Amino acid sequence: MQCPKCLKDMEVIDFNGIEIDRCIECFGMFFDHLEKEDLRSLKGAETIDIGDEFVGARLNEIVDVPCPVCKVKMNHVLQTEPFEIKFESCPTCRGAFFDAGEFRDYMEDEIFDQFQEIVRKID
Ligand SMILES: [Zn+2]
Ligand SMILES: [Zn+2]
Repeated sequence: MQCPKCLKDMEVIDFNGIEIDRCIECFGMFFDHLEKEDLRSLKGAETIDIGDEFVGARLNEIVDVPCPVCKVKMNHVLQTEPFEIKFESCPTCRGAFFDAGEFRDYMEDEIFDQFQEIVRKID
């Protein structure tokens, strides 16, 4: 698979049996449909996001990003609550591309959700 951002090769990495494609150059990652949701529930999954968040933030400026699987233009997703999370989502295969650092933000958001849940239980 070729990285849709910097066009370098992507390598397959394994986290608890879930295979993720990660770019060898910019460390952006591509998740198949529901893979990021599966990873989100696994402790320590943020450790697969090893890239520099400043490099990721710069690459996030690229708006015309083709899905590495189906080659259609991916949608730029920006979620602002409770934390700012940015990624590209494919309308066809529902895969998602995260620039370096973005997946760490996504995992932090999950921890925040769990905290909110605890707060609700106390109320
Ligand atoms: Zn790349
Ligand atoms: Zn796709």
